[in-house]
Amino acid sequence: MDYRVGIGQDVHRLTADRKLVLGGVEIPHTHGLESHSDGDVVLHAVCDAILGAAGMGDIGEHFPDTDPGYKGAASSVFLKEVRQKAAAAGWAVENVDVVILAQAPKLKEFKPKMKYHMSRLLGVEEARVNIKAGTNEGLGYIGAHEAIAAYAVVLLKKG
Ligand code: MG
Repeated sequence: MDYRVGIGQDVHRLTADRKLVLGGVEIPHTHGLESHSDGDVVLHAVCDAILGAAGMGDIGEHFPDTDPGYKGAASSVFLKEVRQKAAAAGWAVENVDVVILAQAPKLKEFKPKMKYHMSRLLGVEEARVNIKAGTNEGLGYIGAHEAIAAYAVVLLKKG
């Protein structure tokens, strides 16, 4: 059996007048995440974890923010494409574990939706996608409501 593990991290600045999208799910909030795309730090972190495990670089190399084609892009498109690129190299997702750090809003009620959405994008059952969310205990830029961050770990198996 050939297994590979990968890690991903992302952080985006919170800004007024943007939709907040996390894990592919739109979440009601006063602020959204500043980005060339929809700013979905969760899906960006998962993309990087998959690319890392597959030895395929990072999200910026595959989807450059200088490309006008990606302006306002739904990050679901990135994740689908990353999954396809990994699959083309023979890799299938075993499981994904995500940590989201957001001082606000409370994400607990949205976790099942994110899990469902991400399992569909990844082509795995929901039990293979885990999402954890926490505040930053009021500390630093995340605690000051200036940004939201996400971390992801992915295990890939050669099919
Ligand atoms: Mg990003």
